[in-house]
Amino acid sequence: DVRVRFCPSPTGTPHVGMIRTALFNWAEARATGGKLVFRIEDTDAQRDSEESYNQILESLRWLGIDWDEGIDVGGPHGPYRQSERTDIYKDVAAKLLAAGYAYESFSTPEEIEARNVAAGRPKAFGYDGYDRDLTEEQKAAFRAEGRKPALRIRMPDEDIAFDDLIRGTIEFKAGSVPDYVIVRPNGDPLYTLTNPVDDAMMDINVVLRGEDLLSSTPRQIVLYRYLIELGIAKQTPLFGHMPYVMGQGNKKLSKRDPESNLFNHRDAGFIREGLLNYLALLGWSIAPDRDVFSMDEMIAKFDVRDVKANPARFDLDKAISINAEHVRMLDPADFLRRSVPYLKRDGVVSADSWDALTEREQEILTAAAPLVQTRVRLLGEVAGMVGSLLSTAEYIEPDDGAKKQLKDSAPAVLDLAIAALEGVSEGDWKTDNLHETLNKALVEEGGYKPRLAFGPVRVAMSGRRVSPPLFESMEIVGREVSLARLKGLRT
Ligand code: GLU
Repeated sequence: DVRVRFCPSPTGTPHVGMIRTALFNWAEARATGGKLVFRIEDTDAQRDSEESYNQILESLRWLGIDWDEGIDVGGPHGPYRQSERTDIYKDVAAKLLAAGYAYESFSTPEEIEARNVAAGRPKAFGYDGYDRDLTEEQKAAFRAEGRKPALRIRMPDEDIAFDDLIRGTIEFKAGSVPDYVIVRPNGDPLYTLTNPVDDAMMDINVVLRGEDLLSSTPRQIVLYRYLIELGIAKQTPLFGHMPYVMGQGNKKLSKRDPESNLFNHRDAGFIREGLLNYLALLGWSIAPDRDVFSMDEMIAKFDVRDVKANPARFDLDKAISINAEHVRMLDPADFLRRSVPYLKRDGVVSADSWDALTEREQEILTAAAPLVQTRVRLLGEVAGMVGSLLSTAEYIEPDDGAKKQLKDSAPAVLDLAIAALEGVSEGDWKTDNLHETLNKALVEEGGYKPRLAFGPVRVAMSGRRVSPPLFESMEIVGREVSLARLKGLRT
């Protein structure tokens, strides 16, 4: 059975690359009937934060990416936070050292660099193997100087090849990967040790991660060999390295880029279905000419071997248009429920949950839902559409776009509209009748083209150029407030 894992380090806000990794691992687990293990790699006390940890959990829960073992849910291989597994790493490191797979290394970075320069090697050549075969006397001498050793893995002098699930055969030439540190001189175990040790102990057999980690794979393959020898690992997992995500100007999307911040997308009003759909397209596609799909459809089709190796581009406009499709597919009641927090944030309703809204707010929103749902792409746009419907204001200050739409004829048009609408009774204040009345007064009799005729009325009602359909809006707002707004703009 496939066992995959998601193992972020809790540094910073969840970002697009991180969540794409979670999504593809989740899809692989669900597509194969396997298990997703969720582990937190918090071995870097300097950079890790509890805030980031909580944000990662929050984002997975929001998106509906669930896991079978790990953080919060538990399982047979815990604990699932690396900061709680220090004894395990110490024990494994001691075994690697005792078996000669790792050795004590006393060289400082400056010494390594100086030796490389002296030997005519590039400065950045890396570690030269100097401490590989120190005698006990040499080690004792270093210790007497007050030095503490790092622990390094002994790389074999041979080519290392593996079949990447996404990229095919990848080969690293003998000698191209220096012996590497797994435990710092102060005793801190590093990612190089903790990640493969945990994957081994948690019985992970498929590792799907970003292309940026490709260079650690030959090291890990060697470490697995040793761990298998020591009876700690059962197998070497299969590896698949997902493509980089590119941002603006064909540069790698950086974690610090606002477009990369998952919560920015949620704040803008992406719904989980839309965002997941878009993230899935960063390296995968369901069919050559199909962009919009659900997670159930993704799971039914997903195979990690179909992930493309070439870089994916994060295209916010495309993401937004995909989100719009998913917004449209929501059940209207669900659409409203999910919109409420955004409406509250933007100050157009009184509470941040549907049930806590006033009856009037619920009524207006229910009436408006079918008009709005097809016209917004992000939930953050809903407030702009319904604000004027919920408001009882008798005058709405037009925004800049709306002002531009007011031509010289606007006052005359408004006069005609007001006169015609004063003749419509409260009981006849209905969409069709309002449409007919204004059309007759402004277009047929007034001789204005529809755009000149209805533009000022729309601006009076909503203060905006783009708004929900005009006559429906007038019905929802009601006779009194509608007339007041027309008069308000007229003066
Ligand atoms: N904690 C590592 C990271 O956040 C995991 C890398 C891996 O998947 O091996 O990048």
